[in-house]
Amino acid sequence: MPALDTAIEYLKGVGPQRADVLKKELGVFTAGDLLFHFPFRYIDRTKFHNIRDIQTEGEQYQVKGILRRLETLGEGRAKRLVGTLRDESGSIELVWFQSIQWLERTLKVGKEYVVYGRASVFNSRFNIPHPETEEVTPDNIQSARTFDPVYPSTDKLTQKGLDAKGLRKILRGLLDALTPADLPETLPDPLLEVYRLTSRWEALQKIHFPENQRDLDAATRRLKFEELFFLQLRLLQIRRRRKDATKGFVFDKIGDYFNDFFYKKLPFELTGAQKRVLREIRTDLAVGQQMNRLIQGDVGSGKTVVALMTMLMALDNGYQSCLMAPTEILAQQHFANITELVGDLGVNVGFLSGSIKGKKRTAILEQLASGDMHIVIGTHALIEDWVAFQKLGLSIIDEQHRFGVEQRAALWKKGAGLPPHVLVMTATPIPRTLAMTLYGDLDVSVIDELPPGRKPITTMHKTEHHRLRVQGFMREEIAKGRQVYVVYPMIEETEKVDLLNLMSGYEALSRDFPPPEYQISIVHGKMKAADKEYEMQRFVKGETHIMVATTVIEVGVNVPNASVMVIENAERFGLSQLHQLRGRVGRGAEQSYCVLMSGYKLSADGRERLQTMVQTNDGFVIAEVDLRLRGPGNMEGTQQSGMLRFHIADLGRDGQILSAARDIAAKILEADPALVAPENARLRAHLEATGKEARVWSRIS
Ligand code: ADP
Ligand code: MG
Repeated sequence: MPALDTAIEYLKGVGPQRADVLKKELGVFTAGDLLFHFPFRYIDRTKFHNIRDIQTEGEQYQVKGILRRLETLGEGRAKRLVGTLRDESGSIELVWFQSIQWLERTLKVGKEYVVYGRASVFNSRFNIPHPETEEVTPDNIQSARTFDPVYPSTDKLTQKGLDAKGLRKILRGLLDALTPADLPETLPDPLLEVYRLTSRWEALQKIHFPENQRDLDAATRRLKFEELFFLQLRLLQIRRRRKDATKGFVFDKIGDYFNDFFYKKLPFELTGAQKRVLREIRTDLAVGQQMNRLIQGDVGSGKTVVALMTMLMALDNGYQSCLMAPTEILAQQHFANITELVGDLGVNVGFLSGSIKGKKRTAILEQLASGDMHIVIGTHALIEDWVAFQKLGLSIIDEQHRFGVEQRAALWKKGAGLPPHVLVMTATPIPRTLAMTLYGDLDVSVIDELPPGRKPITTMHKTEHHRLRVQGFMREEIAKGRQVYVVYPMIEETEKVDLLNLMSGYEALSRDFPPPEYQISIVHGKMKAADKEYEMQRFVKGETHIMVATTVIEVGVNVPNASVMVIENAERFGLSQLHQLRGRVGRGAEQSYCVLMSGYKLSADGRERLQTMVQTNDGFVIAEVDLRLRGPGNMEGTQQSGMLRFHIADLGRDGQILSAARDIAAKILEADPALVAPENARLRAHLEATGKEARVWSRIS
């Protein structure tokens, strides 16, 4: 049995009890799992602060001193263990609220400790709550390593002696027991040489026990590269295979429908970006393979007309198309837009959703089945079994991240013999690094240019202090004939409070903007669909001046006359949400404004989010910041994506390594698609060895 497959309980220093917590707390079952449980930081044994210099709240400090006192204070929930650590410069209190019994037994007054933690202030004095502590013994001083690894740990692990020090011991034992043969190289030698990557054996030793910063950097780079490289290699391979295997309809004609629309109907000049994307699509459609393309384009970048023109290409080649949107409102808007755009060209466009019933529905279904209907626009009703097409050649999905994988796959099955071409559109910009991973097996087009004449939205950050002035500003805009959104946060966990907040905001507004001069609509998730629709329509028609709402308006509502977006408690929204909300204004010719209202006290992240919004309107820049602040796992549309769980790579930071890894992977596959050449034997072996865990996400579109 390969050494790395050894069950964790059989490792030196583990045993059944510790194995149990390792499995439960860390998901570590084998020696290999443990080896890939990487340190999250290292203690630099050469650098200590003087206790006297602990002067900044929230800052992390490493100090060394003698434990002078240790006692339990308080009762019940206030019960805590308090110690005093002293060095030549002064002393500081250490405080624990958890694992008190265990710590009382292990910490010894009079001994010297290395202590690491975040400084905090209590009763106007500094202390360190829940610090990491490690006794200074001849043993760990003699070893004189400069860098000691610290592993992610939990209370339960600590109680079983699996704190930083305990894990360090077990890992040391494990690494000593392994030989280079147990950790075979996975990358070809020439690649290691050209990119100056450390060997795998070396890297795995040094990631746990580096002797200096250089060791650590080299090991980190190698392991990040490996992780991102194999991911890209796999994704590109899937994409190549799919392209080879999945035949698609050939749409090589540009005919009357397309040309008549282009020359007679199109009310504006296409932007350069729109033209480029249409060319990319045209190429896709002509080659006889199924298209799988994602269009990313910020709110208002003009994706709809690109979708329509693609559908007209399908029609010119004798095929039907469908366009699916995540909500009824959005689907209806598309239907209205597209119907108007095609005018009298003789294109038969239909609408289908759950609310279309009886004879109306039967008529649409009949036309779809007979082929009389050319284009159908609707909600997820389109994927129901009872919807059948005569010749479906193209499926377009708007705001794709709101649909599940199965829903998208269901559209594939409705093709006429072959799967339809698939175009997915999203207005949630995804940073390049993330797109390469999340959609690594799709082709991505970007509409990175807004139609001309749009005035950038002016964004301001205001606090309660400015409320009167903000209201004055709203009055001015309303006096000019414009409309205003006021949006409140609504989060499931705090729903009750949020609803109260929204209602009291609405009441206050009703007092400050009284009828009959002012009319206010209100829309939130707890209202009946019909009431929501009624209130929405009043605002759309211009009968009301202010729309008070929760994020239900985030997707798709189009009221070009609305020029002000006020976002209350803006610090509670994520960046991508703020950006989507702001996109509701700036749709007409008028200068538009976004006012971010927040409290005075903001977290560092909260402040950066609001500042980013004030500084830029560029969705891609915003997405990059969002990725850095939140990490890839929390970004919209990525939640269920197991492929974003990395051991060491960080998409927010490792963009350069990722790009290099992807380019190299592409080159290798270009020369040797099946990886059969002798120099690629290691790559193939590694892909096969790790294939099982990867299969889960091999089909994501
Ligand atoms: P989104 O990408 O958010 O779906 P839309 O397709 O709804 O954007 O387009 C937003 C608005 O811009 C629409 O009113 C549309 O008619 C208009 N538009 C699209 N392309 C252009 C263009 N090239 N020039 C001028 N206006 C355009
Ligand atoms: Mg749109």
